[in-house]
Amino acid sequence: MNISTPYRVGDADPVSVFDHPEFKDHEQIVFGYDAASGLKTIIAIHDTRLGPAAGGCRMWRYDTGAAALTDALRLSRGMTYKNALAGLDLGGGKAVIIADPRTDKSEQMLEAFGVQVERLGGRYRTAEDVGISSADMEVVARKTAHALGTAQTGLGDPSPYTALGVFEGIKAAVQFRLRRDDLAGLTVSIQGLGNVGFAVARFLHETGARLIVSDINATSVAKAVEAFGARTCEPAEAHRADADVFCPCALGAGLNSLTIPEIRAGIVAGAANNQLASDTDGTRLRDAGILYAPDYAINAGGIISIALAGPGDTDALVREKTIAIGRTLTRIFERAEAERRPTQAIADTLAQERLSAAV
Ligand code: NAD
Repeated sequence: MNISTPYRVGDADPVSVFDHPEFKDHEQIVFGYDAASGLKTIIAIHDTRLGPAAGGCRMWRYDTGAAALTDALRLSRGMTYKNALAGLDLGGGKAVIIADPRTDKSEQMLEAFGVQVERLGGRYRTAEDVGISSADMEVVARKTAHALGTAQTGLGDPSPYTALGVFEGIKAAVQFRLRRDDLAGLTVSIQGLGNVGFAVARFLHETGARLIVSDINATSVAKAVEAFGARTCEPAEAHRADADVFCPCALGAGLNSLTIPEIRAGIVAGAANNQLASDTDGTRLRDAGILYAPDYAINAGGIISIALAGPGDTDALVREKTIAIGRTLTRIFERAEAERRPTQAIADTLAQERLSAAV
């Protein structure tokens, strides 16, 4: 082992967490390893001023440990903002496991992850995310009391609550922009008909909206045509559709310098995470006169359902908090207009204000 590598304090060190571009005042970063199961995990606790850090655990075949660290740092900070804006008494955290969920995942590895979470003594509460199912969380929960969204503590699939929040968000945006209390006769273009997108389509259909739907999965599209009398378009055309609202419910980074000039809808409001390719795109939407419902504000129904579920009937409480997403968005829209700033920037400011008040 070479311990004589010259290193001066202040040098940019490629392996130093503290010099990492995504390191933004994170409170604690834990690197966990278990030789027997092959577990390699990074748990990032970004901020616990509002309460214990909460955020999902992602299992992904990262090419490098550095890529996993980048994800853990970035996503945990995102959870701080999301939980704060959703009015939850929870901080922000995230775990990543460096493994291929299709070939590497084992009960032993999931249990070893549970041990790592338990060692943090409740400072971090974990949940499912990409590559980790609610069934996996049951295995994690064998070793820790701090696993959310299990059969004992959870309300099951968070998607219906996410969809409810998106529906309330669309109504708030329509009220603000079009001064209308109902959606009857308005057209919404939905990109992605997965667990969330399909449920949003159902809410919209029931309220009398017209739908243009798109998905790379032809079966989902056929189902929506049959169930809701929806029209269809190619997935890559969804943002260009002649609609009042564009509702992205598939992948992130769909709002960028190429797509924004082509958007015909006056409102963008959907569930997809990380919709803006960059912060500049928030300004670009505003300059184009498009009202954008910030993604982490409108899609918080899932984390609300995971965080607030507990023993007994917590469905009503979760619904109430999820419906409040509409009011939060109205506050964001009003302030963005008054301060002439992009809605995403206002969402960040509101979250920061709640965090500062907690100190
Ligand atoms: P999902 O995997 O069930 O559905 C995604 C759908 O998008 C699938 O039907 C898929 O075929 C389709 N799709 C993939 N690529 C596409 C493309 N290029 N064009 C059109 N369709 C495409 O996922 P979900 O749970 O419905 O989540 C949808 C989005 O919402 C994701 O970005 C997710 O991160 C975000 N989100 C979900 C939740 C939740 O509770 N499930 C919570 C917060 C945010």
